[in-house]
Amino acid sequence: VSPPASVVHAFRAAVLRAPDRTALAYFDGRLSYRETDALSDSVAGHLAARGLQPGDRVAIMLQNTPHFVIALLGAWKAGATVVPLNPMYKSAEVGHVLGDCEAAALICSDRAWEAYLRDTAAASPVRIALTACELDLQSRDDARVLAFERVPRPADTDDLLAVARRGLPAPGGREPAPDATALISYTSGTSGTPKGAMNTHRGITYNAERQRTGHPIPEGAGYFALAPLFHITGMVCQLAVCAANAGTLILAYRFHPGVGGDAFVEHRPAYTVGPSTAFMALAAAPGVTREHFASFRVISSGGAPVPPALVAKFRDAFGPYLRNGYGLTECTAPCASVPPEREAPVDPVSGTLSVGLPGPETVVRIVDEEGAEVPFGRQGEIVVRGPQVVPGYWRRPEATAETFPDGELRTGDIGFMDPDGWLYVVDRKKDMINASGFKVWPREVEDVLYGHPAVREAAVVGVPDPYRGEDVKAYVSLRPGAEATPEELSAYCAERLAAYKYPRQVEVLAELPKTASGKILRRELRSRH
Ligand code: ATP
Repeated sequence: VSPPASVVHAFRAAVLRAPDRTALAYFDGRLSYRETDALSDSVAGHLAARGLQPGDRVAIMLQNTPHFVIALLGAWKAGATVVPLNPMYKSAEVGHVLGDCEAAALICSDRAWEAYLRDTAAASPVRIALTACELDLQSRDDARVLAFERVPRPADTDDLLAVARRGLPAPGGREPAPDATALISYTSGTSGTPKGAMNTHRGITYNAERQRTGHPIPEGAGYFALAPLFHITGMVCQLAVCAANAGTLILAYRFHPGVGGDAFVEHRPAYTVGPSTAFMALAAAPGVTREHFASFRVISSGGAPVPPALVAKFRDAFGPYLRNGYGLTECTAPCASVPPEREAPVDPVSGTLSVGLPGPETVVRIVDEEGAEVPFGRQGEIVVRGPQVVPGYWRRPEATAETFPDGELRTGDIGFMDPDGWLYVVDRKKDMINASGFKVWPREVEDVLYGHPAVREAAVVGVPDPYRGEDVKAYVSLRPGAEATPEELSAYCAERLAAYKYPRQVEVLAELPKTASGKILRRELRSRH
């Protein structure tokens, strides 16, 4: 089956097949495919009437709400390239991106507009602003989730929903072309200044189609949007897969274990994908039980390392098998995943869980410093070629040439492959710790820490040491009610790891710092030293 030309095409096909099916569920609110289609048509008509041209950039800075989806489809139907922005970005970060991509339009929440985006937008190329009150489409006014006051509507912007309800037709002749840039995705910045990866419409639908056909999920099922939609994993594996399957996208503003648990019982989703930290939080949350997971057919953990101990803890506590998946923004989310009828092997030497098998048209190679392929089992950099690899970074020819020589993506991740083609991610190249000349990969130490019953989250970093150059230090957070001293955790690792690898320093924190997409920020922990 060839993938649809774009998510807009997939969505329109779903409107024809199931016009009255719920496309978007948000707490008690529901919108059908027909309604969502009409609302987004009107947004497209408005943007075109305000002078937006095909190829112009529309920045969208919203949480997982129906507004996000209406704005996204509306912008695509107007022929725009969408720039999803993390709502946690501060003024300087937003300003950088709006200027870098020369955004013509910005769609954000009323609250953020009033708080700081009005000034940020005024100093940027943005000339069209739409704002949304994120409480509009929900009848349950849940202060626990949306912990902010209702703000008066800004007078100097158009209201997204009012525009959407105007019933304007979408402008003609602006259907997204498969090779056009659908998104400029600024990398979440776990490694420095954000760069914009240009994801094509075809790249998105190709990867979504692979996920859809790889998972035995019936048409029309519920997809719980655990990962943020502004991140490529949420966009592809949730939104695009759901549209291709004419399913119901279950939105809950922002993930926290309580909301996840409630929404699972209320909407009976069949599928979700999220970072492993979200599953760790669920596994440690009081009151989350097997019943919450009874409706799931597939649960994928993507975008961050999955400790084997988490898979075991999760299965014991809740039943489902956590399916690992590996991807980057630069390859439009997954490039390797675990097929439905299989379980990922664990490497007997390092104890690392495989991230899966590369897809059929995806070529994953492991290369040495010179770019030569290494034999099975040997570590090297993971490089990827395939239809989902982006053509480059927005207006960054040097960074593009460096990261995509010959169109092949250099991931910056160290990994290896076994003779059966299973891929293993060892760690990020730049996170390697050099302790007295010995290579220590933080992942391996973290995997051991996750085996300790008291540990909820773990992150290992190299800290300056006058004798060893770098010393291995572990930061951990504990499960609620659990106790463990730093000495005990250090000794636990010492029993299981070579002397140069185990962390002599351990610090317990209430919570580890994370990106908005849920990845633990080792960089922030390193910068404490
Ligand atoms: P930046 O690119 O700025 O560093 P980021 O790394 O968070 O930000 P993403 O594209 O979201 O950007 O993340 C891709 C990275 O996440 C991969 O390069 C890899 O290091 C890590 N990753 C993704 N999936 C897995 C997985 N299943 N196991 C281990 N690591 C993973």
